[in-house]
Amino acid sequence: MIATWLKESRHIVIFTGAGMSTESGVPDFRSKRGLWHGKDPQSLASTNAMKHNQKEFVDFYRMRIEALLNVQPHNGYNILTTWAKWLQLKSIITQNTDGLHEQAGNFNVIPLHGTIQQLHCHSCGNVFSTDRYFEHRLYCACEGFIRPSVVLFGESLDPQVLVTAEKEAQQSDLFIVLGSSLVVSPANSFPNIAKEHGAKLVIINHDPTPLDSIADVVINNRKIGDVLRDISEELSLK
Ligand code: ZN
Repeated sequence: MIATWLKESRHIVIFTGAGMSTESGVPDFRSKRGLWHGKDPQSLASTNAMKHNQKEFVDFYRMRIEALLNVQPHNGYNILTTWAKWLQLKSIITQNTDGLHEQAGNFNVIPLHGTIQQLHCHSCGNVFSTDRYFEHRLYCACEGFIRPSVVLFGESLDPQVLVTAEKEAQQSDLFIVLGSSLVVSPANSFPNIAKEHGAKLVIINHDPTPLDSIADVVINNRKIGDVLRDISEELSLK
């Protein structure tokens, strides 16, 4: 069924969340098990920590950047690259900041929460590589603090990124969610927008989500990589 829809659709949009990353071995710092030095990661990944607790803030992000050095995107990411080549896959909206989509060669990625693979000056916006955090050079020539290019707790999402993602959802005729529990706003708004504009909605997530009732197909309890592999075999794309 999904394979047929993929072939017939003219504007496919993929939406990915933490479940896509964790299958590659990216540690989930939001989970209870992911507690870091007994601290809640949400309190460290915040504007408050950036202002008042810079040492731990930088330590936390350095650790997260380091954790990604050993991570390779799983085969599901490569399958998306193939779909973009042979099918009308137009964009990938992601809640993840790990840059695995880009690493796998996926294009037209819309990172709602930015990327952890880049730093920039909080004052002037100058962009820096993550090397800065390993060299402990934390300040820009303008004396601004060099921070990760992610959306912190206490900050809003980039309105331009939101508009782009909304447009994609509106234009889609097939919207596929991969590994998102769809409980956080605005993440949960995009499948709704897609559905309202007549798209078919597929939700592939380990656990049920609040939007399952409006989905055309729901797949729970399976690895995303395995589901994508099975669909791709049905499509027999090279
Ligand atoms: Zn600066």
